[in-house]
Amino acid sequence: MPGKTLLFVVQQHHATHMHWDFRLEMDGVLVSWAVPKGPSIRPSEKRLAIRVEDHVYGYKDFEGVIPGNDYGSGKVIIWDRGEYKPKDVDPECNLHDKWLSGGVLEFTLYGSKLKGDWVLVKTKKRLYGEDSWLLIKKNDSYAGSGNIVEMCPNSVLSGKTVDQINEEDGLFDPKNYEKSIPDSG
Ligand code: MN
Repeated sequence: MPGKTLLFVVQQHHATHMHWDFRLEMDGVLVSWAVPKGPSIRPSEKRLAIRVEDHVYGYKDFEGVIPGNDYGSGKVIIWDRGEYKPKDVDPECNLHDKWLSGGVLEFTLYGSKLKGDWVLVKTKKRLYGEDSWLLIKKNDSYAGSGNIVEMCPNSVLSGKTVDQINEEDGLFDPKNYEKSIPDSG
């Protein structure tokens, strides 16, 4: 029986500060981290990843403009997307309880840009008074020496760079992304 497949997406988000939102599907929602410098395929570069609120699963398809004047307003592209496999854990179990809460997430990505083995590890110190993690590429055949966010800036959906996006590509409406799971917290 083939195992359940899980999705990951990385959305580049030009808000007040440029960042890349790294999201892993767990238990029907997208557990999310904001990565200020974006992922690195160099195993020596540990990238700060600040855990942010879970997003509804349907947000995986959002590319466009978030209107307004708050910190999240700005342009978004689907920078990478694909399946992922968690290591040493059944994808059908409660991943929040059995995996995420342990603070060390090892997984394999099957994206267009990001591939191979990765780890997200929660830091002991709360670097910014927040939920701080490090996103690290494991040393395998998909590791490299280049700067992947500079080498591959285009959306895997539209081919546009984040600054080429406009409202015709999509306009964020919170009504489309309300929580779909009651009592999910
Ligand atoms: Mn964001």
